[in-house]
Amino acid sequence: MAVLVTGGAGYIGGHMALALLDRGEEVVVLDNLSTGYAWAVPPGAKLVVGDFGDEALVDKLIAEEKIEAIAHFAAKIVVPESVADPLGYYLNNTAKARALLERAVKGGVKHFIFSSTAAVYGEPAANPVFEEVALAPINPYGRSKLMVEWMLADVAKAHGLGFVVLRYFNVAGADPQGRLGQSSPVATHLIKVASQAALGHRDGLDVFGTDYPTPDGSCVRDYIQVSDLVDAHLRALDHLRAGGENLTCNCGYGRGFSVLEVVEVVKTVSGVDFPVRIKGRRAGDPASLVAGAKRVRETLGWIPKYDNLPTIVEQALSWERRLHNRKAAE
Ligand code: UDP
Repeated sequence: MAVLVTGGAGYIGGHMALALLDRGEEVVVLDNLSTGYAWAVPPGAKLVVGDFGDEALVDKLIAEEKIEAIAHFAAKIVVPESVADPLGYYLNNTAKARALLERAVKGGVKHFIFSSTAAVYGEPAANPVFEEVALAPINPYGRSKLMVEWMLADVAKAHGLGFVVLRYFNVAGADPQGRLGQSSPVATHLIKVASQAALGHRDGLDVFGTDYPTPDGSCVRDYIQVSDLVDAHLRALDHLRAGGENLTCNCGYGRGFSVLEVVEVVKTVSGVDFPVRIKGRRAGDPASLVAGAKRVRETLGWIPKYDNLPTIVEQALSWERRLHNRKAAE
């Protein structure tokens, strides 16, 4: 019996593979290496290079590796890119996920853990935002994920597939043991971009909008550390294995930081006053997204360990240094 981790050569999937192996589970990673790296797959996991939308490949894996559960991380995740390339997002995040779900049902997979996103909420009327509010995504990324949430609910009813949907807020930081971090070739996420600016790997940081209806005018987000996030996945898997009901949970700490606050923390932790340029708004960005984070604690017993922005930034910086040295050595 093994867990199939799609996108396991990427940032969050890679941390999931590590965490599963750390507790002695058998792990098969399916990744097309479009943004992930073979070296990011922990030794001990079996890496299969391929597409999760490749039905014949997925059928073969489910049968040969006796896949009991799928943790589906592989996706395109950049909001402005989804605005520019909606069909690419609907193909990758939605249509191929439909194919994966079908193979999972046909292959008798019992449990499915889905990486969803706070972007399904769009511009919430109030923050923190709780799971039961009406969903109104404002960009193709959020819509591409919401459609999979809907498919999962329908498939669960029709075919009995057990699922947990985890709606991620803003994931950041790195493995506390320094084994892995965010390695994507093109950085777009705030803490990674700011870390690169602090280390002089880029010539500063652009702040996309300071005219939002927030305390300092820049966007507010809830930054969750990646190992804490992965811990919610392990608990979700245990919950399903124990016969728990299907669930949808926010994953965040319930506290927001503005872009300008994050920039200050990165400057303080790094000790570098890198250049910051105020720019116009970026397409698809909601003003504020902060998790109502009760359900994940109450239903999964989740207790975060790294709910501290300077700690998260320190981890991001330290991984960025390692990554830079690794690239320099290549
Ligand atoms: N952001 C920014 N400069 C950057 C990267 C991001 O001002 O170089 C802002 C972005 O506009 C958003 C927030 O930081 O308001 C978080 O963006 P990110 O891409 O990290 O995550 P998202 O919330 O889009 O998933």
